[in-house]
Amino acid sequence: MVDIQNDFCPSGALAVPRGDEVVPIVNQLAENFKNVVLTQDWHPPGHLSFASSHPGRSPYDTITVAYGPQILWPDHCVQGTPGAVFHDALRIPHAGLILRKGIHRSIDSYSTFYENDRTTPTGLTGYLRDRGITRVFLAGLALDFCVRYSAEDAVREGFAVVVIEDACRGIDVQGSVAATRSSFAALGVACIKAGALAATG
Ligand SMILES: [Zn+2]
Repeated sequence: MVDIQNDFCPSGALAVPRGDEVVPIVNQLAENFKNVVLTQDWHPPGHLSFASSHPGRSPYDTITVAYGPQILWPDHCVQGTPGAVFHDALRIPHAGLILRKGIHRSIDSYSTFYENDRTTPTGLTGYLRDRGITRVFLAGLALDFCVRYSAEDAVREGFAVVVIEDACRGIDVQGSVAATRSSFAALGVACIKAGALAATG
């Protein structure tokens, strides 16, 4: 369950349109799973991904940093702030792990597996492997960034990957939703609806 946090919901600092609509869906979905991981975008103040850290730049500008292009965002999900907290209607008490990413000031992290330099691991692969998990289902925010990069990295790490598409919402910056769908098709990431999962158990 990717980044279902106040700042990514309507009225948040980096609101994903209708982002809050996923909350009741994932609450229900989670009941189908014994192993659930919740992730949180969790940045220190002055994070590299914030436009405010780059004088003269605006949110949604793209700059080049040490690891390549980086889109700049409004300040969001700052460690310990109300915006970084999970949506208050999220109810998945049996989740076994809360994984925080984007914690290094100079590296962003869309993926829940690797930070944006593509080499710094979050540790999620090890957690899943140690528990014998071979297939990953993804839901949350935003479809075209953190869900997308997580799905791509999960494939790279050898997991079977299923995205529950009606339990995700996208931001759609610079054609990013269309690019996400192309990427999923190319990588063999399955996209299903939450209802299909509930029906099959
Ligand atoms: Zn972030």
